[in-house]
Amino acid sequence: MKRRITFTMIKPDAVADGNTGAILNRIEGAGFRIVAMKKTQLSKAEAEKFYGIHKDRPFFGELVEYMTSGPIVAAILEKENAVEDFRKLIGATDPAKAEEGTIRKMFAKSIAANAIHGSDSDENAVIESNFFFSERERY
Ligand code: UDP
Repeated sequence: MKRRITFTMIKPDAVADGNTGAILNRIEGAGFRIVAMKKTQLSKAEAEKFYGIHKDRPFFGELVEYMTSGPIVAAILEKENAVEDFRKLIGATDPAKAEEGTIRKMFAKSIAANAIHGSDSDENAVIESNFFFSERERY
């Protein structure tokens, strides 16, 4: 069986627009269980660390600026085949390419301000969950 957790962030644009509840509703409706959740704001250093894999990409500066522009909602989600199923639920990075009914199709504004993050591998799901949450914060 595939690993059961993934990590998500509802990004600053979606939180600022008041879409947190609608997005969480879709996530729970798709069968994911919320294991841990918090509203927080990333510092520049934290955003640079979280997205460190992209540090040489041309959009890195813009990405860090955007991700620190307001609060985010971070969560660990549990479901069978969580990483793959969640990537399907959120849709393509670029909302113009995201399928109908996906969270990014519904709520993303642009390829940068794309409403939500989802881990891209089981390994990163663990790393990203540990970045935000201690063991005591998981239920
Ligand atoms: N991003 C961007 N411009 C791009 C590609 C990505 O601003 O051309 C941002 C976008 O917010 C994306 C994040 O960088 O979600 C991480 O990119 P990645 O390729 O890992 O996409 P994801 O896994 O989030 O779909």
